[in-house]
Amino acid sequence: MSVGVLRARGLATVAATFAVGAGIVAAAPAAALLTGPVGTPPEMITPLVAAPLSSPHPVLGADNRIHLVYELFVTNPTSSVMRLEQLQTLNARSHDSVIDTERGSRIIATLAGTDLDGAIKPLVPASTLTLAPAQVTRLFLDATFRKGARVPGRLEHRFTFTLTPPAGPPSLHTVVSGSTHVVDVSPVVIGPPLSGARWLVNGGCCFPASYHRTATLPVNGAFHAPERFAIDFVQLGTDRKLLHGPVSDLRSYRYFGSKVLSVANGVVVGLQDGLPEQTPPNFPANATAQTAGGNYLVINIGQRHFAFYAHLQPHSLLVHVGEHVKQGQVIGLLGNTGNSDAPHLHFHIMDGPGPLSSDGLPFELRSFFSEGTITSPIDALLSGTAATIGHASRGHHRHELPLENEVISFPR
Ligand SMILES: [Zn+2]
Repeated sequence: MSVGVLRARGLATVAATFAVGAGIVAAAPAAALLTGPVGTPPEMITPLVAAPLSSPHPVLGADNRIHLVYELFVTNPTSSVMRLEQLQTLNARSHDSVIDTERGSRIIATLAGTDLDGAIKPLVPASTLTLAPAQVTRLFLDATFRKGARVPGRLEHRFTFTLTPPAGPPSLHTVVSGSTHVVDVSPVVIGPPLSGARWLVNGGCCFPASYHRTATLPVNGAFHAPERFAIDFVQLGTDRKLLHGPVSDLRSYRYFGSKVLSVANGVVVGLQDGLPEQTPPNFPANATAQTAGGNYLVINIGQRHFAFYAHLQPHSLLVHVGEHVKQGQVIGLLGNTGNSDAPHLHFHIMDGPGPLSSDGLPFELRSFFSEGTITSPIDALLSGTAATIGHASRGHHRHELPLENEVISFPR
């Protein structure tokens, strides 16, 4: 359990804030310790609450770093305007006196200014660093460690922020919140979902958060992040171009119709078929949560891991629910169905069979070669421009997660 810490400055303001709050807390002085059971930490009113969506699972990225990828939902429970100034990710089981920068440091990372701004994605369009009274926002974090480092068993977060009440001066506060266990389980290791060379990892891990990571869906009364580690695969030609013809012609994307492979042995537990192809470069106007994935397959690959393959060509699915599949087996063809603006394979691993009600889990590819990481604008690929590929992460990789904008090839 983490205990909030209020700095001395401005406490009277906080007390007044709570006194005029929306009934969340009675008009107790914010700085006063509340009487609690003997032997338990002191109880203190905190003017910020951070809660993890789920506990992070470590994964080794192609940058040779261990990544802890997770989200915090942050609430301003006061009637003051909150401005976030700094966020420090802490090793909850360490102390400030430990100065080893990678193994035992109390402070794992510090975000402020534009970096903190970049981590915040409100649920609806809103200011990032400023939270209105009673507003909730989301932080998308990526704590990294060098390969071989001992990853903390628990994280917590020190928020520094100002509160400005309806009448009165702003005051500075610090609260430690957002305690989360770190899961001590190795990621699932899988085979390739496609074959061939120069597959671009689009919407990939980790920071700043991709459109996949920020899809925290309110489903069945709870938030879920099924696409936390999702990848949209598109293939570049030998000329490093995506497009070889009119942008609206599916045949201009030479990888359209590529064979999609099962990444592991498993059992088909869900599918959707019959949805039509869309016309690039536009998203369909009428996509719903149910049709967003287009034609898809869900395959239970064991150990509470489910592989999800989306946007497949209509009537290209080669397996049926209940069928056992082998790793490397062709299960469908890459298409452009559902909420898609160009042919691609959306692939991810999740912790349940429901594409909307699951949480994304990390995975490591058994083997791949990285040509490097694209440094030119990704959007320019849809105008026929050739990609510029930098050296980042170039080389052979084993048991790693390919990262955003890498161009990778799978062994034949
Ligand atoms: Zn996707």
